[in-house]
Amino acid sequence: QFTALVVDEAAEGRTAAAPRQLTLADLPDLPVLVEVEYSSLNYKDGLNVSGAAKIARRTPLVAGIDLAGVVVESADPNWSAGDRVVVNGWGLSETQSGGYTRYQRVKPEWLVRLPDAFTTLQAMAIGTAGYTAALCVDRIVGHGTPAGSEVLVTGAAGGVGSFATALATAAGYRVIASTGRSETHEYLTGLGARSFIDRSELQGKGRALGAESWAAAIDSVGGSTLVNAIARTQYGGAVAACGMAESPGLPDATVMPHILRSVALLGVDSVMAPAHLRAKAWERLERDLPDDLFASVPRVEPLSTVPALAREILAGQVRGRVVVDVTA
Ligand code: NAP
Repeated sequence: QFTALVVDEAAEGRTAAAPRQLTLADLPDLPVLVEVEYSSLNYKDGLNVSGAAKIARRTPLVAGIDLAGVVVESADPNWSAGDRVVVNGWGLSETQSGGYTRYQRVKPEWLVRLPDAFTTLQAMAIGTAGYTAALCVDRIVGHGTPAGSEVLVTGAAGGVGSFATALATAAGYRVIASTGRSETHEYLTGLGARSFIDRSELQGKGRALGAESWAAAIDSVGGSTLVNAIARTQYGGAVAACGMAESPGLPDATVMPHILRSVALLGVDSVMAPAHLRAKAWERLERDLPDDLFASVPRVEPLSTVPALAREILAGQVRGRVVVDVTA
């Protein structure tokens, strides 16, 4: 028997998460059995575990969008016992049994081989936030953004933004970090940020075509911030959009930057991203993440604290990344 955090139906059509004792027989009938060592806490996990939004589309379902661990047995020839693996997304906790558990069975095509450089704990300190940032950097590099040019990163002090700052710097760009927290400037400078813009400068209604200020942008904020980031992108540039911390809307957006400056809006999804993009993203993380990003041990919390942490992350009270120890 082992403990998992399971989302189930609760009163008034809502869902609620509670620890439950499972056996291997309770796991889905999928080809690869993984002994999970760590998972992580993400905003989506907060919504799911607190019941603030209906993330689990069937119940009961083990929560947790990420997992890292070791293969125990595999009916698939590509994987064998002892392989160190990561799963990000693929509907874990939404349509598939998730990562807040000691053991999980998964599809072989969901697995990414964990680069030697990382422990399973570090893999979850990176988690979906870091891997999504790597997907974003891959998109702006793939668009042909010239090395040495300026790249705006919005929500820079957040999970995706911090990793995007470090990875875009390592890719040879000069990062302009947009943040609402001036106390994070030193931290962001340490990750490579060359200059700062207060996040309020990108909010609200701006001009349809602003001053051409950066060759590309990585945006995890959405809303008016994304609209203004696009409006201030240089001719032929690109904006990789992955989040909606401000809003899912595009208020007062016009086609002008796209049709008069050939600016591209590149959507980035981590959940269903195909395996070859994941492998490339993890290669970038292995090659380019600065050691000092891991210099301080990441915050590690036992599975039992996740319900309380879920409420904290929704209230904006969680700083940085939280790794979840599913063995504790
Ligand atoms: P996070 O750690 O909470 O960071 C979000 C950052 O956005 C905050 O730190 C803050 O940055 C900024 N922000 C928050 N509210 C804002 C507002 N009202 N106006 C302007 N800026 C605001 O979250 P995260 O894990 O990085 O995720 C960021 C977003 O990406 C979320 O919407 C998440 O759902 C999404 N996401 C999407 C994917 C995907 O597959 N597409 C994957 C991962 C995450 P400052 O403190 O620096 O101002």
